[in-house]
Amino acid sequence: MAKLKGLKCRECGRQYPATPVHVCEFCFGPLEVDYQYEALKGVVTRESIAAGPPSMWRYKDLLPIEGEVAVGHHVGFTPLIRAQNLAEELDCKEVWIKNDSVCHPTWSFKDRVVAVAVTKAREFGFDTVACASTGNLANSVAAHAAEGRLKSYIFIPADLEQGKVLGTLVYNPTLVAVHGTYDEVNRLCSEIADKYRWAFVNVNFRPYYSEGSKSFGYEIAEQLGWRTPQHIIVPCAGGSLITKIWKALKELKTLGLIDGPVKTKMHAAQALGCGPIVTMIKNDSDVLRPVRPNTIAKSLAIGNPADGYYAYKVAKESGGHGEHATDEEIIEGMLLLARTEGIFTETAGGVTVAVTKKLIETGVIPRGESVVISITGNGLKTPDALYERLEAHVKIKPSLSAFDRALADLKNQAS
Ligand SMILES: *Cc1c(COP(=O)(O)O)cnc(C)c1O
Ligand SMILES: [Zn+2]
Repeated sequence: MAKLKGLKCRECGRQYPATPVHVCEFCFGPLEVDYQYEALKGVVTRESIAAGPPSMWRYKDLLPIEGEVAVGHHVGFTPLIRAQNLAEELDCKEVWIKNDSVCHPTWSFKDRVVAVAVTKAREFGFDTVACASTGNLANSVAAHAAEGRLKSYIFIPADLEQGKVLGTLVYNPTLVAVHGTYDEVNRLCSEIADKYRWAFVNVNFRPYYSEGSKSFGYEIAEQLGWRTPQHIIVPCAGGSLITKIWKALKELKTLGLIDGPVKTKMHAAQALGCGPIVTMIKNDSDVLRPVRPNTIAKSLAIGNPADGYYAYKVAKESGGHGEHATDEEIIEGMLLLARTEGIFTETAGGVTVAVTKKLIETGVIPRGESVVISITGNGLKTPDALYERLEAHVKIKPSLSAFDRALADLKNQAS
């Protein structure tokens, strides 16, 4: 089945064969993978998907892989959890957590995009992969390169969290720490990508890489019984994930896999210290003003997001909105999710929870509607954000009487 039509310019619509290119030669617009949807209709069915593996590869027919899957065979199909406790706390009827902080080799949704990009790099015969990263992508590219026996060059801002640095180095890539912001790292990587024949997953492989994020959207719909929720809250860095969840829902509609129209409102979540996409949404302006990031949500700290304009358009087109979260609100969000649902997410998840809370409180999300909160990364990777906040309640000598006294003190304090 020839499912790929090729690549298509998002701006002028010009078509290109599916090769490792990412920019339109005519208008410099970004290229996107285009499929033969007519040929896929009736071939990709609810049943064919259900018969697939319990991973993102159950949607392989809708991803730009033509041969066999090379790496990340077990990525995805993460839990969608009905969050009753959090719903009570937020006073909202139907709250779901799409928990992408588990069931991934490197505990973030980036394993979805990297599994596609690295497989595609192998298909095109590359022997080296690379990326510019705010942390999670670094972990994932290094891990999948190791699995696929490829060389890897990983570029990060030098001030990343230790957990993210260690979680990259362990796979033995070449890690390059750049003294600068992510946006400076990214600019450098564009120049390197022009000079060396490497598969930069989020530069020259961006059209393929970003398609991996669609699986996050497919899973939500399938796990809800082929239904779409009324709201999805998505943390935005480069702005790709939110656009691809939207693309995924629309594709399912095109293929007749979901009943009724797609009425999901897509909401963008960003930190106040780096929220250029949300600022566009709030100002109702399609002009992105780059910012210099200053936030504890480092995985989202992209001041000049590549897909910022498209992320803004998705929020608008879907009738969604966006909100910023302060560093304090981010920490409160992390603690709220942990306390109510037993899920430890990283700072990006704190942003999403905090933003959901605000959107409910301000009435943007009506309390009777269904909400999916995207939890995209694991809290054990960013403990730095919480070290100063959390401490053992009781410190005692190893004796029963010491414990009895401490317990009595605790009860006194509580009453
Ligand atoms: C990269 C990342 C995002 C956002 O991804 P984009 O597609 O670049 O907007 C969200 N959450 C986490 C944890 C990430 O690492
Ligand atoms: Zn073009």
